[in-house]
Amino acid sequence: MSLPVVTRFAPSPTGSLHLGNARTAFFSHLWARKSGGRFILRIEDTDAQRSRGSFTEELIGDLRWLGLGWDEGPDVGGPAAPYRQAQRGGVYAGLFARLEAEERAYPCYCTPEELELSRKLQRVSGKPPRYAGTCRNLSRAEGVARQARGLRPTLRFAVPDGVAVDFDDAVHGPQHFPSADIGDFIIRREDGTPAFFFCNAVDDSLMGVTQVLRGDDHLTNTPRQLMLLDALGLRRPAYGHVGLLVGADGAPLSKRHGSTSVREFRERGFLGAAVLNHLFHLGHASDVEHWLPPAGMPAHFRPDHLGRAPARFDEAQLVHWQKETLQRMSAADIGRWLGTDDAALAELVRHNVVLPSDAVPWIAVLHGELPPLGADAQRVVEAAGPAFFAAAAAALSQSGPDLKLLTQILKERTGRKGADLYLPLRIALTGQAHGPELAPLLRLMPPDMARRRLESHAQNP
Ligand code: GLU
Ligand code: ZN
Repeated sequence: MSLPVVTRFAPSPTGSLHLGNARTAFFSHLWARKSGGRFILRIEDTDAQRSRGSFTEELIGDLRWLGLGWDEGPDVGGPAAPYRQAQRGGVYAGLFARLEAEERAYPCYCTPEELELSRKLQRVSGKPPRYAGTCRNLSRAEGVARQARGLRPTLRFAVPDGVAVDFDDAVHGPQHFPSADIGDFIIRREDGTPAFFFCNAVDDSLMGVTQVLRGDDHLTNTPRQLMLLDALGLRRPAYGHVGLLVGADGAPLSKRHGSTSVREFRERGFLGAAVLNHLFHLGHASDVEHWLPPAGMPAHFRPDHLGRAPARFDEAQLVHWQKETLQRMSAADIGRWLGTDDAALAELVRHNVVLPSDAVPWIAVLHGELPPLGADAQRVVEAAGPAFFAAAAAALSQSGPDLKLLTQILKERTGRKGADLYLPLRIALTGQAHGPELAPLLRLMPPDMARRRLESHAQNP
């Protein structure tokens, strides 16, 4: 029996929830739920310039809309509160002081210009650019002198010499990074705020996270973070880095691929369960091919089946899951989703819509004017001829909204049958060759609307 897994989602509230981030949040959520563990939401808002409270609110709303609830987080509290990094300054201050006292970190007074120059020199001599260690052995007196010149230091972690960091990535397998390849890195910015490497790793450990799951753009950050945790004597979580989400062309999923945020899909009318069914298969080789209810997903989640290859997001696949989800909804729920309380209308169009906007033309068919016929539809109407529609209008006055009776009468009077009879009738009544079942549609249509539409084709053009 394995121990419960504690996972987390740690977004930076600098924009809308990207589908790629929603996917790692979802996998983390599934992993915790599968093992009976805990899922934590932590807001990484230490970058005051780019973070916004409104993005945090939006993020929380979108995660809840997806149905990914958390056991600890900024809005629900928990034993490791607070869960917004901007409020954890006190926690970090103590750890910074410890690292400095133990000489595992040191103030760096290098200016951006000096750092840029140093990087350039390294590049021209063919070395990978990394911090040259300039301030590592600065004396206290030199430090004081620079402060007097108005320079504010960053705090750098002193990467130990001649060691290696090893860890077993849940997705990429065994990893080995020599410390010689890693320059001393900033853990506290000039303005006193903690840098990502630091607070991200420290909080995972302090919050009891056992399994970090994130995009593999973070894979090379992990050795730095592990050295830091080791220096602080904090327990290491395990890490897993999943392949990034890309568009159909293989490039990272971005604006030019269309919608990329959960918010956009939500506003277009995609359903949370459809989004989750699609995400479930993105970079996760599942043995289940069919639609799953979100509550049934943890049991089928296989962390050992997460892939490192980039996962291709395909809106056509999302549409497939949307249709599967719609099929499983009640007419009442479909009505709510369409924004109508007309249950008969919802039932009528449910197989002809993917998004609520697709229902608009059908609502117009029942409650408004038809747009002009397309060329193909026009040809069908002309081939049927005015006499056919005159007969149809007459038949309608006998049959009323009973399509079966109407077509029976019309068949007797015109000798037409099958598509020759149904297609011109459908086009005259709905303006289109395809769509919801005609019988209920006719029943829902105001009676003289149907008559007027048939009569409009009964005269010679
Ligand atoms: N705040 C970081 C991000 O959004 C978290 C990365 C991680 O999951 O560790 O990229
Ligand atoms: Zn320096």
